[in-house]
Amino acid sequence: AQENKNLKFHLPEIETPIINLQLTKKYLDICRSMSLWPMTFGLACCAIEMMAVGMARFDIARFGAEVFRPSPRQSDLMIVAGTVSKKIAPMVVRLYEQMPAPKWVIAMGNCAISGGPFYFKGQYGIVEGVDKLIPVDVYVPGCPPRPEGLLEGLFKLQEKITGKRWWPKPKGEFHE
Ligand code: SF4
Repeated sequence: AQENKNLKFHLPEIETPIINLQLTKKYLDICRSMSLWPMTFGLACCAIEMMAVGMARFDIARFGAEVFRPSPRQSDLMIVAGTVSKKIAPMVVRLYEQMPAPKWVIAMGNCAISGGPFYFKGQYGIVEGVDKLIPVDVYVPGCPPRPEGLLEGLFKLQEKITGKRWWPKPKGEFHE
């Protein structure tokens, strides 16, 4: 076929892209971090403190994370609050896999971090920390951690997602 020279044209060069993808991602990350939807599930006593964080005194709604969802498909944050036994481990992994990306995990309490008081050499029933099963973004130590500790974990996660701390640091001997 003969080449039609009249059809040849040059696109004008665009110096800057019409949509700044970097900037869009930055705003998306801010929106995501300020509207995290935790999954409604708890494994042991730490879950009681997690419930307290949703009540009026600690009021996690102030930081956009009060919409605890009953389905992993509607959640982007898994708070592992309690002891992870080997029997429950496959369910924890399955729930994590059912969450759509991007997704994050907070290991709340010593049990979720390292097996806590139930893990010792020779025991047969406890997982030595949930990070042996799924990736963890933030660790909140304590047995159990107070609700303020979980809030601080949420702030750390927001900082990890956006690269910026959004809330003032608490004052006290353990803080700068
Ligand atoms: Fe219970 Fe302590 Fe384990 Fe939390 S860390 S689940 S409070 S034993």
